[in-house]
Amino acid sequence: MSNLTIDSIKKRSFDAIVIGSGISGGWSAKELTGKGLKTLLLERGPNVEHIKDYPTTNMNPWEFEHGGQITKEMRDANPVASRCYAFTESAAHFFVKDAEHPYIQEKPFDWIRGYQVGGKSLMWRWGTQRWSQYDFDGPARDGFAVEWPITYAELAPGTVMWRFLRVFPATKMA
Ligand SMILES: Cc1cc2nc3c(=O)[nH]c(=O)nc-3n(C[C@H](O)[C@H](O)[C@H](O)COP(=O)(O)OP(=O)(O)OC[C@H]3O[C@@H](n4cnc5c(N)ncnc54)[C@H](O)[C@@H]3O)c2cc1C
Repeated sequence: MSNLTIDSIKKRSFDAIVIGSGISGGWSAKELTGKGLKTLLLERGPNVEHIKDYPTTNMNPWEFEHGGQITKEMRDANPVASRCYAFTESAAHFFVKDAEHPYIQEKPFDWIRGYQVGGKSLMWRWGTQRWSQYDFDGPARDGFAVEWPITYAELAPGTVMWRFLRVFPATKMA
């Protein structure tokens, strides 16, 4: 920090700081920059370069040392991560191993994590559900987490908000 001059402080000043580059943080940063805010996105994990850093994508099961499955040793060392169906020989490199970041479970909780640029967007299954109002009502109805501050009606295609977002995409709203 020896070069902390006024100029560098200005250079290090941001309108918004987003921590984590997963779907939540990545999309937040995209929206913020689109509105003209000088945004800093901090990510704890390494960069993942498209193609180059997908070493297993084009491999066939028989090309893996264990046919694509994880070994008993790997399973024993990762009782939490290995409960995720995707924790396989082909994808385990994107998962945080249990010993790398242990945590206390007061109640059983499988915390599946991926520390890299893109976070778990590199691990998910591409299933994109379309919610109904029933889903937005879930926390209030079932008494968990926090209530949603928006309704389905506000987001649904054809509504005023939806048309507004379509007509004024983020880049033009700054
Ligand atoms: C195998 C699998 C399949 C899935 N399939 C689906 C699906 O089909 N459909 C669906 O809707 N959802 C699916 N999900 C869930 C979905 O992937 C996650 O809900 C979503 O990716 C979470 O995004 P996020 O940005 O909230 O968190 P994350 O993706 O976990 O991002 C958090 C980011 O923050 C970074 N970070 C953490 N701590 C710090 C720190 N201190 N400083 C800086 N950076 C930090 C992490 O490295 C990471 O990049 C799946 C999840 C898994 C594991």
